[in-house]
Amino acid sequence: MGRLRNRVLEANREAAKFYYNTLCSPQGRKGLDYFHSRALSDRTIRHFGLGYADDNWSSLCTHLKSKGFKDSELVAANLAVNRKNGGGIYDRFTDRVMFPIINPRGNVIAFGGRIMSDAKPKYLNTSDTPVFKKSANLFSLNNAKNSGKRTLILCEGYMDVIAVNQAGFTNAVATLGTALTGEQAVLMKRYADEVIICYDADEAGQKATARAIPILRNSGLNVKVLTIPSGKDPDEFIKSKGNDGPAAFKVLLDKCGNDVEYRLQKLKNAHNIQLTEGKVAFLEEAAKLIATIGSPIERDVYSSKVASELGV
Ligand code: ATP
Ligand code: MN
Ligand code: MN
Ligand code: MN
Repeated sequence: MGRLRNRVLEANREAAKFYYNTLCSPQGRKGLDYFHSRALSDRTIRHFGLGYADDNWSSLCTHLKSKGFKDSELVAANLAVNRKNGGGIYDRFTDRVMFPIINPRGNVIAFGGRIMSDAKPKYLNTSDTPVFKKSANLFSLNNAKNSGKRTLILCEGYMDVIAVNQAGFTNAVATLGTALTGEQAVLMKRYADEVIICYDADEAGQKATARAIPILRNSGLNVKVLTIPSGKDPDEFIKSKGNDGPAAFKVLLDKCGNDVEYRLQKLKNAHNIQLTEGKVAFLEEAAKLIATIGSPIERDVYSSKVASELGV
């Protein structure tokens, strides 16, 4: 048990080096051009140890086998897959840019791989292995842990976290292609007291925000919600602002409200409060929302706020 886990971790570490070295070699040109087109600097690429899995189906297996890894170990790591008929294994990731997932102890526990075309699936992640459970880990928690902040910025994806880091905010993390779980919230509570949800501004992102709020709260975290303007995700927003990206993102961070304010704002947007019926409906729903708040003082604060905003 312990031995296989160690071999899987060693294989992952070697694989991350191999993917990074490929990215920096002539065979990795395509991947490097891709990252540059996404506005990532070489420093950022090195810092995250990003890589490229080439389009030959055995490059990684051949390399790792020459380093003494057994087929069974590479399959256990989900770096390779058994051939359907007959013997042998082949690389799990081909022709994808690679994102190593590193835990707070500094171990490479898994990978995400993004295809550079419109082909599907856009992202392929390591399946669960002896060292990786997707629902209980977060991308870039290793960086966030050293950010010196007790606040985490929770994003949807790899590129968002990396863009936010490059803009100077190293306390960003992301879930790994699944909805936020209670285990991930508990993990965040180990490193933070507050989480700023920073999901995509699209419908899916807003739905995911609504689902994440109670999960984070239940783990005892303070929750804030950052809303990205004009339908973008954090990466697109920062990139669209060019050199002003970091400052523009800082403005959004500083002005974002807590979860109750966010939910009240959403309720308000859902009703036409110019009309009496709209006003009444909004007030009824707002009252229900406020009633769920545990602290009587907080309840008072929000009640007066809503009342004064509506002039009632
Ligand atoms: P990019 O990451 O290139 O900017 P995007 O912003 O359109 O693309 P989204 O669709 O918003 O990406 O996805 C955000 C995150 O969701 C990804 O980083 C990835 O973790 C996860 N994800 C998206 N598509 C898939 C998929 N097909 N399988 C697994 N995870 C996925
Ligand atoms: Mn999205
Ligand atoms: Mn997105
Ligand atoms: Mn994106």
